[in-house]
Amino acid sequence: MHYFKYRGKELYCEGVKVSSIAVKFGTPVYVYSKRTILEHFQKIDKAFKKISPLICYSIKANSNLAILKILVQVGAGLDIVSGGELYRAREVKCSSKKIVYASVGKTEDEIRAAIKYGILLFNVESFPELSRINKVARELRKKVDVALRVNPDVEPKTHKYIITGKKETKFGMDIDTVRDIFLKRDDFRYLDVCGIHIHIGSQITQSAPFIKAIKKIKTLIGDLAKKGVDLKYFNIGGGLGIVYDDETPQTAEVFAKAVLPMLKDSSLSTILEPGRFIVGNAGIVVTKVSYIKDTPSKNFIIVDAGMNDLLRPSLYEAYHKIIPVTQNTKHKTRNTKKSDVVGPICESGDFLGKDRYLNVEEDDYLAVLGAGAYGFSMSSNYNSRPRAVEVLVDGNNVHCIRKREAYSDLIKGERIVS
Ligand SMILES: *Cc1c(COP(=O)(O)O)cnc(C)c1O
Repeated sequence: MHYFKYRGKELYCEGVKVSSIAVKFGTPVYVYSKRTILEHFQKIDKAFKKISPLICYSIKANSNLAILKILVQVGAGLDIVSGGELYRAREVKCSSKKIVYASVGKTEDEIRAAIKYGILLFNVESFPELSRINKVARELRKKVDVALRVNPDVEPKTHKYIITGKKETKFGMDIDTVRDIFLKRDDFRYLDVCGIHIHIGSQITQSAPFIKAIKKIKTLIGDLAKKGVDLKYFNIGGGLGIVYDDETPQTAEVFAKAVLPMLKDSSLSTILEPGRFIVGNAGIVVTKVSYIKDTPSKNFIIVDAGMNDLLRPSLYEAYHKIIPVTQNTKHKTRNTKKSDVVGPICESGDFLGKDRYLNVEEDDYLAVLGAGAYGFSMSSNYNSRPRAVEVLVDGNNVHCIRKREAYSDLIKGERIVS
């Protein structure tokens, strides 16, 4: 579900013609639909209404301040994974009591900043991290709530780089370790070890892996309760999949129906951390065809967006639909030519799509769909390419929410030594 639709031959984002955005702002340009973002948040909110969970949008999916603000304004909390994301959360004035913090490598400075800001809880990923948070809390003389991230060792059936809940990944701790820590939780005088966190992977399209993981945790919670260890929070993470190609991911409603029975009779507060589900289909990258290059062995459509703008195809071999911004029936020549859509970067891995059939010519605009999550947030300046402009469409209005970088931005902070 999203608001990027053709009207006649023209692709629109909500009420705005995408080609007019490309002309006005240049390419490549990220275009987001506010309505799509809000409706996805509301889908989760509604589906879980019975237990009124805290929905902490995962900043790393798309960290633009305008998008964070939209979500914070409708009551979302934020899931952060770094000091930089804490800074962003503060910039949009997210209530500190709605911020949760995961990451296997929190530094002492990051921990200190988060404690000072008074975040709701840390999702702790190792024993040494627990000791370090306790040490910093002691220095600051504050009592800090923490949840232990369990690695439930379940198979989420997704790309191998975005699995996080199998025992061979670096995330979380095994159930036995977590049980031991809970039984000794009074050793950490400055911590209230009072929650459990899981996040088993990303782009998960079925409910079964979630159910499996939550069941394991329920057993653990039951065991702990018998030993007098009561908990406050159960954070079931994010990971809900979206449609990129022909997937049929569970809807928020189906997901909620599957997991609610396991959550609703517990006294624990539930936390959710959706990222991709909220913003994934709410964004596209618009790019311009620079050259058509046909070689004896392969045909290429060379565009002005590359892997520095959208890394997912290169990094995960991820599929993104690529469609014309203006359907042009006049130039029919390439309809039957299978082509790779590639960027200008000096890497063979720089492609946005392979084996596509696109009826395009030089200077035509193409839209790469499903680029709202892990798109701009993963972009870089590789090949000294300024990062793209980001715009937000709200009905008939277009707002620039991050201007295109200039060459001077590329060398900011650099110094020639003579
Ligand atoms: C990345 C991440 C999320 C969000 O994952 P999505 O697949 O985008 O929903 C949630 N929780 C944690 C701890 C994460 O690292």
